[in-house]
Amino acid sequence: MHDFDLNEDESDLVARARDFAKNYVAPRAAGWERDRKMPREALREAARVGLTKLDASKKDGDRGTGFVAKLLVLEVISEECMAFAFSMTNTQGMAGRLEKAGTPSQKERFLEDLVSTQRLSATALTEPGAGSDFSAIQTRAEKVDGGWLLNGEKAWITNGAEADVFLVYAQSDPEKRWRGIASFLVDGRQDGFERVEPYGMLAGHAMGVGGFKLKDMFVRDEDVVAGPGDAFKAAMGSINGARTYVAGMLNAMLHASLSHAVRYAAKRETFGKPSIEHQGLKWSLADVATKLEASRLLTYRAARLVEEEGDAMLAAAYAKKFAGDVAIQGIADCIQAMGANGMKDDVPLGRHLACAKLACYTDGSTEIMNDRIGGSLVELFG
Ligand SMILES: Cc1cc2nc3c(=O)[nH]c(=O)nc-3n(C[C@H](O)[C@H](O)[C@H](O)COP(=O)(O)OP(=O)(O)OC[C@H]3O[C@@H](n4cnc5c(N)ncnc54)[C@H](O)[C@@H]3O)c2cc1C
Repeated sequence: MHDFDLNEDESDLVARARDFAKNYVAPRAAGWERDRKMPREALREAARVGLTKLDASKKDGDRGTGFVAKLLVLEVISEECMAFAFSMTNTQGMAGRLEKAGTPSQKERFLEDLVSTQRLSATALTEPGAGSDFSAIQTRAEKVDGGWLLNGEKAWITNGAEADVFLVYAQSDPEKRWRGIASFLVDGRQDGFERVEPYGMLAGHAMGVGGFKLKDMFVRDEDVVAGPGDAFKAAMGSINGARTYVAGMLNAMLHASLSHAVRYAAKRETFGKPSIEHQGLKWSLADVATKLEASRLLTYRAARLVEEEGDAMLAAAYAKKFAGDVAIQGIADCIQAMGANGMKDDVPLGRHLACAKLACYTDGSTEIMNDRIGGSLVELFG
């Protein structure tokens, strides 16, 4: 468990999230997966109970909510459905951004609809031909009178099934690689936007992952969010927070799976006693518990750094890489401890395992975390 000193607003927010997770998300999550559906109505309910304004920074001294509270909210929801938590945080990221730095016209056009989830938003970097190598994106931004014309295709976008307000990254000058990339606020209700059929996946359909094409989409100058040279840095600047909360989500799925497995193994009798009393099984779950504890410590250290606006690059990479490895092996071990019953779709472990696998790609894959850590080895240990 955490030892963060939350203020009153934050404690209240986390308590509301816990209540929402237990009473609203838990009874529905398996159905969302069976229906392979993004639950739009659940986002509306999350907005109703005040969970879609997580990016408000701490204000007025001790009031307001910070990054740690956001992480804890996402953790408690991920114990029931990581895919839904991921969709929720992706759609409210844009509202937070506009609130802090949007122009008056952008706020008027989008903010209220985004906070109420009348409209959903998404961030679009990845393309059919470029994921980890972000500087290789091919979507083109061409300067025209009064704005820019965007052409290209985006892929693997969380909320892509339903969102229509996008932060789109596009290349203005391919020779400049990352220095040519700019970002744009794109209204998917305008001409030039074409949605691609949402993806069928192993699990995680509540994320509504899909793609879209842009054909001569006009974006006015005012809706350039970060110009060439700045957009890449801005994307990298915000990614440590995302890596940290994804680590928290992985820990939460492992925690939920371990609770299921322990409860099950305490009841299930094999060879004349509860199976948890067999040393082999008990030690296997003790290993899971130990690694979960270590993973939480790494994640919470990164979260503190993100909240205090320190340099969280390495801490976030350690946390996400470790949480991913530990969750995938640990959830599989929990399923093993439950025998065949662990594989049924009315227990959430299979769903958690598949979502843990997905989480090992979002906001940078495990290998890219290794790349970040590897890049610091000489400085740290040489
Ligand atoms: C559920 C889900 C939701 C997502 N949501 C979004 C979203 O909202 N917005 C968005 O823009 N993107 C999103 N993504 C895309 C995600 O960011 C990419 O999947 C990720 O960046 C990896 O890119 P890729 O899948 O194209 O793999 P690739 O880049 O093609 O890599 C393939 C494999 O090679 C490895 N690899 C690549 N480069 C190296 C290297 N230098 N060294 C060693 N190994 C390497 C990778 O780790 C991976 O294992 C989402 C992905 C998933 C699965």
